[in-house]
Amino acid sequence: MSKKQTLVVIGNGMVGHTFLSDLMASDIKDCYEVITFCEEPRAAYDRVHLTEYFSGKSAEDLSMVEDNFFQENNITLHLGDKAESIDLKKKTVLSAKKTLIHYDKLVLATGSFPFVPPFRGMIVKIVWFIAPLKILKPLQLRQKSPKLVR
Ligand SMILES: Cc1cc2nc3c(=O)[nH]c(=O)nc-3n(C[C@H](O)[C@H](O)[C@H](O)COP(=O)(O)OP(=O)(O)OC[C@H]3O[C@@H](n4cnc5c(N)ncnc54)[C@H](O)[C@@H]3O)c2cc1C
Repeated sequence: MSKKQTLVVIGNGMVGHTFLSDLMASDIKDCYEVITFCEEPRAAYDRVHLTEYFSGKSAEDLSMVEDNFFQENNITLHLGDKAESIDLKKKTVLSAKKTLIHYDKLVLATGSFPFVPPFRGMIVKIVWFIAPLKILKPLQLRQKSPKLVR
């Protein structure tokens, strides 16, 4: 049996996780040892339905990850660890927590940042961008305590 290749996926968001799910459902899954870096403290969740957090959905409801997905598929998940640099010559990825991984195949699924128009007044602290789930909790508390919002 030939040695497995190391496949590194940077980003465990909607695309990164769909890629992993599809790979694990395919007949080439055993060709790879899979490692993924997830900058956020939580594995993939449904960002499209993030606003439903305010109408009662929990972080668990929004999760895209089936129970034990990573363990059952032998995927190494580096949670809360950002891939900071890629050495294309050496084929390595170095993370913020100083994990160094040699890869054979590399997938970048890092998403994007929305363009925010420079409206006047944007510097006041009542304008929030709801992309990462981790900022919704304090925002939800503010929603429950309107006196905090000026
Ligand atoms: C409220 C809301 C509603 C939306 N509605 C729609 C819609 O109706 N239709 C639609 O098509 N799209 C919608 N979008 C956009 C949609 O969320 C994105 O298209 C989708 O999430 C893109 O998936 P992605 O995996 O490319 O990026 P993301 O889901 O953003 O995932 C990228 C992940 O990679 C991580 N990452 C980035 N850099 C690194 C790094 N160096 N190391 C490790 N991890 C890293 C990020 O932290 C993130 O977790 C909506 C977004 C929001 C916020």
